[in-house]
Amino acid sequence: MNNRKTVKDYIRTIVDFPHEGILFRDVTTLFADPRGFRMAVDQMLHPYAGQRIDKVVGLEARGFILGGAVAHQLGTGFVPIRKKGKLPGAVISEEYQLEYGEAVVEVHDDAIAPGETVLLVDDLLATGGTAEAGIKLVERLGGEIVGCAFVVDLPELGGRKRLEKMGMDVHALCD
Ligand code: IMP
Repeated sequence: MNNRKTVKDYIRTIVDFPHEGILFRDVTTLFADPRGFRMAVDQMLHPYAGQRIDKVVGLEARGFILGGAVAHQLGTGFVPIRKKGKLPGAVISEEYQLEYGEAVVEVHDDAIAPGETVLLVDDLLATGGTAEAGIKLVERLGGEIVGCAFVVDLPELGGRKRLEKMGMDVHALCD
């Protein structure tokens, strides 16, 4: 029976987190299961088999866990995109809108060389604002995004459409 479990079956929903009325999709239960975690990582890189990928870029924080494992599997380097003020070296920054207010993400300005091909990884795609800011950072450094891979897509929030409008190839393991 356990063999038939899909990635979605390992994801838990927490009601009213971080605010009342929000259904939070919690992937820590997926990460904690050896079979679930391996399945997720394998499925995330599957669409890109045979393509040249120089760097995997992960979005803070769950994108680090997935992105590190994907990079290891592909034999590529890993680059973190972090919230403002966390990276020690010289950075470039992108501001983006949250439901209430703004956020800023940063990447080291020497983390990606012009012409390098990049796979962007995060746990969940909602409005697409976080991923869009990440894409802009990679492109400002001259990187070329091969694809954007997520575990979960929340289609009603429009993130996929937003990224596809930017010309991105978007893959999610479940809706
Ligand atoms: P977006 O910028 O609106 O697409 O939101 C996506 C970002 O918020 C990602 O970095 C996610 O990790 C995080 N996020 C939003 N909602 C959830 C959720 O229900 N579960 C896990 N992460 C979430």
